[in-house]
Amino acid sequence: MTEVEAIDRSALVLFSGGQDSTTCLAWALERYRHVETIGFDYGQRHAVELTCRAPIRDAMRRLSPVWNARLGDDHLLDASVIGKIGNTALTSDAAIEFDAEGLPTTFVPGRNLLFLVLAGAVAVRRHLTIVVGGMCETDFSGYPDCRDDTVKAMQVALNLGMNRRFALETPLMWLDKAATWRLAEALGDQVFVDLIREQTHTCYLGDHVTRHAWGFGCGTCPACLLRARGYETYRSIFPGKTT
Ligand code: ZN
Repeated sequence: MTEVEAIDRSALVLFSGGQDSTTCLAWALERYRHVETIGFDYGQRHAVELTCRAPIRDAMRRLSPVWNARLGDDHLLDASVIGKIGNTALTSDAAIEFDAEGLPTTFVPGRNLLFLVLAGAVAVRRHLTIVVGGMCETDFSGYPDCRDDTVKAMQVALNLGMNRRFALETPLMWLDKAATWRLAEALGDQVFVDLIREQTHTCYLGDHVTRHAWGFGCGTCPACLLRARGYETYRSIFPGKTT
């Protein structure tokens, strides 16, 4: 959180209120002179995540005067059409499991593609030239729309379709969850790691009551397991920081 020379560009961060997107927000705030955030309400079971967004933004402002100066508006878009597609464990009570193709039932076809299109549209209106997303291929949960090639293809499609020169940046693409915790520490020290533990939400089942060392969650859904294992690995590598 030392002040570094910002790149004189402006960014829009896909910010859900989860661990990954909160880390991406800090990453962008360290880099760019002006940073706005965008979130999507699509009737997700874990809508509790949306209620975390404003408090996280406020807490990040308090954490760093540099971040406070660079953080701009938030945009929350209604993407409820996704919930109408149906048959996904993210928006219905369907069990979280894997189908014959190896795709988890939490996969919503086209969800991240749609988010990138909507983010691109907002970025045009707001004159923002960088779009930052927490897509990750390493702890790949089986989502084809989080692949590096998919994001690169979307960058080309958005630039052609919107006549812009966007850069889509994915700082977590090649990091595992332990490295993502480590990145958070590098960006904002232990206080930022603690903020992520206390205030972000990852659990697919929307459990924001059960407390663990790594934060709140049911502890058994795929998102909780990834987060928990990553945190344990991070702590085993950097035990001196244990709280
Ligand atoms: Zn969970």
